[in-house]
Amino acid sequence: RAAKRAGRDRVVPYRPELRTARERFTRISAGLRHAIDRDELAVHYQPVVELPSARIVAVEALLRWTPAGGPPVPPMDFIPVAEETGLIVPIGAWVLERACRDARVWYDRHGASLTVNVSVRQLAEPGFADEVLHTLARTGLPAAGLVLEITESVLVGGDGAAPVLVALERLRAHGIRIAIDDFGTGYSSLSYLTRLPVDILKIDRSFVPTDTAASGGDHAFTRAVLQLGSSRDLPAIAEGIETAEQAELLHRLGCRLGQGYHFARPGPADQVEAAFRRLNPALAG
Ligand code: C2E
Ligand code: MG
Ligand code: MG
Ligand code: MG
Repeated sequence: RAAKRAGRDRVVPYRPELRTARERFTRISAGLRHAIDRDELAVHYQPVVELPSARIVAVEALLRWTPAGGPPVPPMDFIPVAEETGLIVPIGAWVLERACRDARVWYDRHGASLTVNVSVRQLAEPGFADEVLHTLARTGLPAAGLVLEITESVLVGGDGAAPVLVALERLRAHGIRIAIDDFGTGYSSLSYLTRLPVDILKIDRSFVPTDTAASGGDHAFTRAVLQLGSSRDLPAIAEGIETAEQAELLHRLGCRLGQGYHFARPGPADQVEAAFRRLNPALAG
């Protein structure tokens, strides 16, 4: 009762941090609304490599936003706003189209797949699967060359997850693969891995041992997470590999694929071309 009374004639305290957060949200969503039209978005790409050869087997598309006249806004700041406002739906469609166009030549020349992050908000759109298939048809990238990265939360959302699972199964029937991003940070149970449409696990950066930990330790957590994948024959990609020691350790623990600053930073398409020449020289065209 006291809370109710307080709610009716409450004096709103001045909380600068809340005001700032709301203003930031408003500013970012207002800017994002015009980002496509104003040509402020770009897609960067980070190679995914085979361990230990460092041959590029895939590239991950990572969205970049630089508002006119300002510095770039980090994805961590604007992706959640895009998701909450629903702007991720048109923006995600733009990313997919752009990335498929750029990646087709890498698939044709090097057999490298494209991996694209997809938000639950996009997956929940009734026309999502059709749109993905149309994008492949328009851009000429084969379904076997596309991987969609989703997070675990998409798959364990109770009844709300059912239409999403139908869409994912339909895409898989066409040969598109599904990767679980940030694996290990969420539910990560063996039971859902056996039930759900998943082809690849991307092991979150927090399970890549730091260098001090890499020299000693039994790496029990890293082993356990890799074990979850191998028990289901799911290939694992370790994210955020920053040193040669980490790459070597992960390879020793049975991880065959990796990604991180040690191999290549995310960059625009021409930088990826250079990475192919450096890391896949025999096939570079
Ligand atoms: P993510 O999908 O887990 O992508 C990996 C993030 O790790 C990227 O951050 C990448 O730049 C960063 N990274 C790669 N190698 C290293 C490394 O060696 N060390 C460290 N410290 N970081 C590394 P980025 O580009 O800032 O993106 C952050 C997140 O934003 C992504 O995490 C992804 O969830 C989201 N995101 C990015 N682009 C898109 C998009 O087009 N659509 C959606 N829905 N989400 C996106
Ligand atoms: Mg990702
Ligand atoms: Mg992601
Ligand atoms: Mg990740």
